[in-house]
Amino acid sequence: MEKLSLYDYLGRAAGQKLGNNVKQQADKEQVPVGWRKIENKKYVGNVLLYPKEFLDKYFQSHTKAIVVFSGGQDSTTCLYWALNRYKEVEAITFQYGQKHIVEIEQSKKILNKLGVKQVIVNLDQSLGFLAESALTSNGDVSQTNKYGLPSSFVPGRNGIFLYNAYVYALKTNADSLITGVCQTDYSGYPDCRRDFIDRLLETMDNGVFGDKKSNLKIETPLMYLTKSETFKLAEDEGCLPEVIEMSHTCYNGERKYKHEFGWSSEKGTSEDPFCPACQLRANGWEEYKKQYNK
Ligand SMILES: [Zn+2]
Repeated sequence: MEKLSLYDYLGRAAGQKLGNNVKQQADKEQVPVGWRKIENKKYVGNVLLYPKEFLDKYFQSHTKAIVVFSGGQDSTTCLYWALNRYKEVEAITFQYGQKHIVEIEQSKKILNKLGVKQVIVNLDQSLGFLAESALTSNGDVSQTNKYGLPSSFVPGRNGIFLYNAYVYALKTNADSLITGVCQTDYSGYPDCRRDFIDRLLETMDNGVFGDKKSNLKIETPLMYLTKSETFKLAEDEGCLPEVIEMSHTCYNGERKYKHEFGWSSEKGTSEDPFCPACQLRANGWEEYKKQYNK
């Protein structure tokens, strides 16, 4: 029976969490594992070898995930969440005239570090051109728009992102789309609710498969978490340092000040208050420290 290491099977480093989970499952099923001694500059020790059939079965409903990846806190946490569960992970990033374009630069840095493939889709001439939002114009992101929603809301954004990602997932035979939308601490954006995601998937399936459903699922790991719990999830998935140091959430698009919760364009004082995105993140961080005794 062919046995191989997780590294060889995945074609990437598995990370401790995934390594532990696979080992636990192998122990539970009493799968005969093997060992191989490795001695190189980076690592000296033994690696576990698993039967290929066992690994195929382990990843059978988690073969490939497409992560909608902006380079922000939420999608960075989702990216690691995916890497800890899926055999293969790809990222799809959207450029849509957002003021905080620096998030795309950060997204590239994070993915380069992990060796994850990224496709960048340019929506400047569609969403960026058509939508009215303070996030894509010179408007103040702290105001309310004509629908009573935050002015940073981009109408249609998540729907357009997910429709694009869905089409790409079909082409690349992915079984999951992953998005970091959240309806708990959400900024009042209706397209971040699970109800919207479910209806959208049904509609997208209907447009391709008629009355049949696709095998595609849309995973929303952060949907019911508070921002504090999202920080905890980042810790559990092994990416808290990357979230703090590398991800970018600030609407004002600069990385001027390093706070405990991450980088921001603002000082966070009464003269230079946080934008709504930084404020949400700052509050979540304080809550995280309190809730988990950090
Ligand atoms: Zn900010």
